[in-house]
Amino acid sequence: MKADIHPEYNKIKAVCACGHEFELGSVEKEMKVEICSACHPFFTGKQKLVDTAGRIEKFKKKYAHLEKK
Ligand SMILES: [Zn+2]
Repeated sequence: MKADIHPEYNKIKAVCACGHEFELGSVEKEMKVEICSACHPFFTGKQKLVDTAGRIEKFKKKYAHLEKK
């Protein structure tokens, strides 16, 4: 018989670098994200987070083609 190979899918708490916490489904027990919809300028339309590690710049580059309209 085949064993159940499906990984356990949990509702976990993800913590963003900005301190915002939200739930998401993942096989991980805990997840830390660098940016979320609460602090990303792409979603908020403004930058309100202190960018210490160029994380937002990285994201801006990633979505630059979407903003150039
Ligand atoms: Zn955030």
